[in-house]
Amino acid sequence: SCVLVTGATGFIGAHVVDNLLSRGIKVRAAARSRSKAEIMIETRPFAKSILEFVYIDDIAEPNVFDQAMEGVDAVIHLASPLNYSVADKERELIIPAINGVRSILQAAAKNNIKRFVMTSSFGAVLDMDREKNTPWKYTAEDWNPISYAEAADPSASPQDAYRGSKKFAEQEAWKFMAQEKPAFELVTLCPSMVFGPTAHPVTSVDTLNESNALLWRVASGVEPLPPARFNFWIDVRDLAEVHVQALLNPNAGGKRYLPVSSQKFSYQLASEIMRDNFPAEKDRISSGVQEINENVDVDTAPVTKDLNIEYRDFKETIVDFLTQAYLLETAK
Ligand code: NDP
Repeated sequence: SCVLVTGATGFIGAHVVDNLLSRGIKVRAAARSRSKAEIMIETRPFAKSILEFVYIDDIAEPNVFDQAMEGVDAVIHLASPLNYSVADKERELIIPAINGVRSILQAAAKNNIKRFVMTSSFGAVLDMDREKNTPWKYTAEDWNPISYAEAADPSASPQDAYRGSKKFAEQEAWKFMAQEKPAFELVTLCPSMVFGPTAHPVTSVDTLNESNALLWRVASGVEPLPPARFNFWIDVRDLAEVHVQALLNPNAGGKRYLPVSSQKFSYQLASEIMRDNFPAEKDRISSGVQEINENVDVDTAPVTKDLNIEYRDFKETIVDFLTQAYLLETAK
């Protein structure tokens, strides 16, 4: 059997690849960067016979996945633009996200795929207008109310354009399933902020992925603390396990999951853990106060029950991330 993983050279994708390889599952990794793919291969010499790369420069082009899909049993689709510093948000964030999903689903439908796992985002779920003081428990039924016109508006924030891109891409996938009725089952995952050590090619702390870059801002003393729009997070290694369980578990087919730790985070909590565990760096770690909203929760039971996941503690995630980030910083 063989699993096609897109976004394999990214933060979450590389952990998903490693999780599959550790089970002896063959991985065909899709990437656009040859140099990153080469580093991934070089740093995994034990996996030579079960890890191969295919190159897809633009995931949004029609038919680009047809060849990559040959001989594949299942797909984990993680590739999606996640970059807040883009000039044209509709062209660089929203359209590639939607067209990428359409292109890969069409290719999957033409082949003998059994399951398709897609990484959406908690941003596709979160309602920013929800009253802060009104209790609410998010479930897989919830969708962020943003319209295409609002997300694509040039004056929209990059965060809103990104949250729109994830919502429209995920809806495109469910629409495709309803209209085309392909033979495979779709599972979508809507993780909240993802933190933890990196397994993909990162050469300096300046090129960390967006979510870990926020932790590095705290560690390196950028004031004020980054705003936390919500207090939900998940460790990247736990999220990789969620992806693999969503692929392997017979009960997951056709479901939408919110992989979120039941423990809440804030950047204040992150900074306290950093100062407690790295006393030599204490003076440059940001401090600041940030409240945790106890009125808003996520129903975490479906992931822990269906997919049998136990979440790591935030302290472990922060300590493992920062240990690695300091090494990266001194290697620079
Ligand atoms: P990264 O930016 O590290 O990974 C994104 C991956 O997608 C990279 O491999 C990147 O390729 C690839 N990619 C992006 N745009 C394109 C494109 N236009 N064509 C081809 N490939 C592209 O981010 P993450 O690993 O964090 O994100 C992976 C997925 O998880 C995304 O779908 C994201 O929306 C989702 N997610 C992430 C969260 C987080 O907190 N990190 C939270 C919720 C969801 P390359 O390596 O060449 O740059």
